Amino acid sequence: MGCDLVELAVSGVRSLSPYLPGKPVEELAREQGLDVNAIVKLASNENPLGPAPSSLDAIERNLSELARYPDGNLFNLRDALSQKLAVQPEQITFGNGSNDVLVLLAQSWLKPGVSAVFSQYAFVVYSIAVKAAGAESIVVPARNWGHDLDAMADAVRDDTRMIFLANPNNPTGTAFSRDELTGFLDKVRSDVIVVLDEAYFEYVQDEEYPDGIALLKQYPNLVVTRTFSKAYGLAGSRVGYAVSSVEIAGLLNKLRQPFNVNNLAECAAVAVLNDDEYLERSRAVNKEGLQTVAAGLRAMGFEYIPSMGNFITFDTGGDALVYYQKLLEKGVIVRPVANYGMPGHLRVSIGLSEENERFLQALEEVKKVV
Ligand SMILES: *Cc1c(COP(=O)(O)O)cnc(C)c1O
Repeated sequence: MGCDLVELAVSGVRSLSPYLPGKPVEELAREQGLDVNAIVKLASNENPLGPAPSSLDAIERNLSELARYPDGNLFNLRDALSQKLAVQPEQITFGNGSNDVLVLLAQSWLKPGVSAVFSQYAFVVYSIAVKAAGAESIVVPARNWGHDLDAMADAVRDDTRMIFLANPNNPTGTAFSRDELTGFLDKVRSDVIVVLDEAYFEYVQDEEYPDGIALLKQYPNLVVTRTFSKAYGLAGSRVGYAVSSVEIAGLLNKLRQPFNVNNLAECAAVAVLNDDEYLERSRAVNKEGLQTVAAGLRAMGFEYIPSMGNFITFDTGGDALVYYQKLLEKGVIVRPVANYGMPGHLRVSIGLSEENERFLQALEEVKKVV
């Protein structure tokens, strides 16, 4: 009888393929009989430094608040973030991770009969959010693994309500410049919402890389999303946000669950937002690690996609799942990207230097036997 009930679910939800997360360390430990401490997880673009000590202190100081509901308006985080970003507090919408905000955006504007545009190889959450809302996805072929912004502008139809851009994109690590972005925004109709996902914003150190928030005044149809999951080291506590016009934020906040960010997550985010030293360390470790891993891949003859994020996606030159499995047996977890239509590639997150070395060493060994 359960089947009949499932048949009655909305077709957008029935047609979804669930998100495939990186394999948890504990799961691999159980499967392979390995010690958790012997496992290196470079599968989910997490911050290898672990949480900032400032975040941990804030959580410890606030543990006694757990019986209380969080501040639904997130006054403290809203205040800190609006100052940091030089935006009005009312322009911010908080989410349980930025994934939550991406879903709120799709739910607010998408429905059967309308469409959304995103790139081939774009972050898979866009396709899930669009499908769940019952809208049509227009997937634009990538150029050199990145967004082809000209083709994306041309793909917009009369029924298009939303465009998703990831800068940098996950899993390809590709990014577009300020000129490319403004050229694109100039071409897009003002009634189409452009969601600019900047999950890796804090990691990018490139003169040409645009700050989406600086463009909000000029483009009222632009919505920028960012997260505390990556460079700020709080993937497990789930805090992300959108910055937009006050009007768009007001709408999203009607749909947002009032307590979608918990009180410990909020205070951890406030603490690390003001922890410049942690952010600097995150950037430095990533920059050095990107160079080490890229050099290691080159030395072994693997082609990789140059990355602006905290990960590198490389071509195994064969069946990536074979490499993935053999790396698992050596206690190294990376991320297959076959679900992105990249069956020959693997994505590896940048870790601490010893973790990067472990990965390169394991890959070298695996390469000899496949
Ligand atoms: C990691 C990631 C996100 C956000 O994840 P949250 O943890 O939900 O904030 C969003 N977009 C991209 C492209 C990502 O890689």
